[in-house]
Amino acid sequence: MSVTIPPVPHGEPQADRIYFFDTTLRDGEQSPGCVMHSDEKLRMAHQLAALGVDILEAGFAIASEGDSESIRTIAREVGSSAKAPIIASLARAKREDIEAAARSIEPAARGRIHTFLSTSDLHLAAKLKITRAQAIDQIAEMVALASTYADDVEFSPEDATRTDPDFLVKVCTVAIQAGATTLNLPDTVGYCIPQGYGDMFRMVRERVPGIENIVLSAHCHDDLGLAVANSIAAIQAGVRQVECAINGIGERAGNAALEEIAAILVTRRDQLPYRHNIAMRQLYPTSQMLAGCISFGAAPNKAIVGKNAFAHAAGIHQHGVMVNPLTYEIMTPESVGVPSNSLVLGKHSGRRALEQRYVELGHKLTHEELDAVYHRFTELADRKKTIYDQDLIGLLRPAEQSASV
Ligand code: MN
Repeated sequence: MSVTIPPVPHGEPQADRIYFFDTTLRDGEQSPGCVMHSDEKLRMAHQLAALGVDILEAGFAIASEGDSESIRTIAREVGSSAKAPIIASLARAKREDIEAAARSIEPAARGRIHTFLSTSDLHLAAKLKITRAQAIDQIAEMVALASTYADDVEFSPEDATRTDPDFLVKVCTVAIQAGATTLNLPDTVGYCIPQGYGDMFRMVRERVPGIENIVLSAHCHDDLGLAVANSIAAIQAGVRQVECAINGIGERAGNAALEEIAAILVTRRDQLPYRHNIAMRQLYPTSQMLAGCISFGAAPNKAIVGKNAFAHAAGIHQHGVMVNPLTYEIMTPESVGVPSNSLVLGKHSGRRALEQRYVELGHKLTHEELDAVYHRFTELADRKKTIYDQDLIGLLRPAEQSASV
């Protein structure tokens, strides 16, 4: 079916443009082992801006005073220029949540309130204990309220993929009438398979009046290992915003991995001819920085950013790659920011090697910074045989802060 594409709040034509909505600091941060201090969130937010994400969901303002303050800081420090990412703050469809979200994004040049309400019968009955009619009223009222605080409002019917299709059409219609500018239909529980997820978007695009004037968005979870595949199916069905996280972190099995979606768009441009704003060489440094902030890194066999993602162990493969990398590599490690040399850093490494490694990881250090980091590096190298890239990212922080991680 043909795909007609709506305008976006950026005011640029976007028929062939995919918008990356990063939720590393919200959906990602709320999952086990991923709690970040506010200084780590700020450092990640700077890096996500350098990576080129279009929308940066910085947190859930009502969750705590700390969360709210952290969103404000990111809005001020990272989101204050017109070219910065849009800073989004999550809110349940409740007045106090929406007001807290609105306050938290105030310092941003472009802020977004992202509000949500469950719409599946299961969630309505078991969790919210309200009727469909009450849900419709609440969506209309709260999206309208959010619109009084921001001209950029995203609405998500939580558990959209298990929502009755006729009711979902009604929900979408009401949200658009109330002022939503982005409509995100999440596969909250990771239940969909690609064809079905794409069909849901085709269905709403056919049946919801005014949908051609808003941005449709996908938000997928990896419970069946299909988060990225479902996101691609959504793009093929006309979705232009994908919600995702670095290293695929997020609730339970995680969200769709940002680096995988970006690499798919680049590697398979023949099938997916879309523009995007991701600086591909920042993918690996961003992945490493996140690993240094939370309690785990990407699995060794993780696509794009895992330790083995570009390793060739079998003799036949090694020979092939030496003759011509294209035999077994569909992209080069350098293209996603994986350092090309296999320099192993340890206690005998010098200042120059360390400095060079940081440059490859996207950090140009001043003389003073290098002095301080080199001192911490030698201390760590006394305790640890091999120093990994994520250790180096961790060393960028002053010792008293990294000690608590
Ligand atoms: Mn989620």
